[in-house]
Amino acid sequence: MHAYKGIKIVNGIAIGKIKLYKAPVYEISDELVSDIKAEIDRFEAARVKVQEQQNALYEKEMKEGRKDTAGIFEAHAMMLDDDDLIDSCKEIMSEGHTAEYAVRDGFEAAAEMFRNMDDPYFQARSADVIDIKNSMLDVLFGADTENLQGTEPAILVADDLAPSETVKLDKSLLLGLVTRLGSSNSHTAILARSMNWPTLIQCTDISDDWDGKFAILDGYNSCIYIDPDKPTVEALTAKQQEDKEKEAKLQELKGKPSITKDGYKVRLYANIGGPKDINAVRENDAEGVGLFRSEFVYLNSKTDPTEDEQFEAYKRVLESLAPRLIIIRTCDIGADKTIDYMNLDKEENPALGFRAVRICLTRRDFFKRQLRALLRASAYGNLGIMFPMIISRWEVQECKEILATCKKELEAEGATIGKYEIGIMIETPAAALCADELAEEVDFFSLGTNDLTQYTCAIDRQSANLERFADTHHPAVLRLIRETIEAGHRHNTWVGICGELGADPTLTEEFLKWGVDELSVNPKSILPLRENVRNIDLSKYKIPEPKAEAKEEVKPEVKPEAKPAEAEKPKGLLGRLFG
Ligand code: PEP
Ligand code: MG
Repeated sequence: MHAYKGIKIVNGIAIGKIKLYKAPVYEISDELVSDIKAEIDRFEAARVKVQEQQNALYEKEMKEGRKDTAGIFEAHAMMLDDDDLIDSCKEIMSEGHTAEYAVRDGFEAAAEMFRNMDDPYFQARSADVIDIKNSMLDVLFGADTENLQGTEPAILVADDLAPSETVKLDKSLLLGLVTRLGSSNSHTAILARSMNWPTLIQCTDISDDWDGKFAILDGYNSCIYIDPDKPTVEALTAKQQEDKEKEAKLQELKGKPSITKDGYKVRLYANIGGPKDINAVRENDAEGVGLFRSEFVYLNSKTDPTEDEQFEAYKRVLESLAPRLIIIRTCDIGADKTIDYMNLDKEENPALGFRAVRICLTRRDFFKRQLRALLRASAYGNLGIMFPMIISRWEVQECKEILATCKKELEAEGATIGKYEIGIMIETPAAALCADELAEEVDFFSLGTNDLTQYTCAIDRQSANLERFADTHHPAVLRLIRETIEAGHRHNTWVGICGELGADPTLTEEFLKWGVDELSVNPKSILPLRENVRNIDLSKYKIPEPKAEAKEEVKPEVKPEAKPAEAEKPKGLLGRLFG
């Protein structure tokens, strides 16, 4: 038996034979041809055919309800209409090169342009250009690429898989996926996650002689066992069975309250990036949305989204998920999330730079467009508006003033505006340490533990080299979390956690003990977390009842079964007692 490591994308166990997939390698001649028109015609025919294929894949994904993956193929089809790309290929052919040669060089140059961009999201898009290049070459060489998997269920092993290859995979024949290359931002990884296949990437030891061998992909331990021994087979078969039973059991928790054995209720909300995640919120029975990262609405747009475009996106989420509370965070752009059309200066320390609310308070028109869209959308559900990267009270006051101006303007225009709560992210040590005074300004806090950890421990969250020093349970971070919850409750401000730590099952009991009101996590973590909560008994801890004096314009408690805007504001820990 041999064990080989990779990077896990999706947990789970896959047991079976390996099917090794080798992408075809084409020999492209650099000899010049005389009939330039014939090459351009071949190129055009291939372009039309590949575009048809991509459109068919788009239709298939839409039909099966996977709008996000459908979008990949829609973008691919559009790429094949790109004048710059087509012209650069035609220019190469006009020098006497073949259509194959032009496709290889023209598409490679476009992919290189993406690779050299600073933003990891755009860097990962180079894989899409390469995917289209390969599809064009398949057509020009007349290759059959339909059957990657053979006829038996297998663990598919490949150097890499393009989205168009991944989506063609027959789910009934796919046990798991292992690739030598790939990144966690790649579309193949995104597809694997949305399909929930046990998946490893960057498994550098893949070798041709694995083909047909018996193997076990162990997502939990980020490795694949080739020719596993009997005890390993037995242990991992049992684990696989246990997973199946757990998964079935978790489904039974849908509709059940997230409540500890001794009756403390916590709200389990979902983190989302936009309307495409509405189904995931419903399917995983999230009780609300604790973090809608609105910057994805901006990142997914080629130009600055208009007020109407934003309004439509926010309205769709609010309306579709009503009466759940939907907390939409105002644009948290900057640092790792850069947008070309924003024309932001390059900075030495972008994580400490011009980002999030600092941009919004400087570019008022930009900010007002979003606030107006949010206020208009508030008429369609239960909205929470949340400001990120706060360090000072005056920033919150200025955000609220601009919001009030937008409200006045909209009312004068005759717009309907619903109720909404106002909150801030607590994701800087400054905000955590000033939580008492900040709490006087807002209805809720949401702890952004990803940035709070980065700024408290001076650990760049993007750096792969700091793994050894990064302690997500650092006592300083945990202390700031606890003290923020306590400060919030002193002022009747409810407190949630929307950073990754909220889904860490080893901390759930601590968070509940400290009185957290809400945990907002990726949708797939909701049911496991609910199970975890329901197994906790806090009666062993002495829980002090916090002061609970109501402020003016008190905002409501959001119980899972209550419409947030209509319910009462929590009166501390005991206020969340079930029954
Ligand atoms: C955080 O910082 O914890 C957070 C939730 O925000 P983001 O990860 O988008 O920075
Ligand atoms: Mg953050």
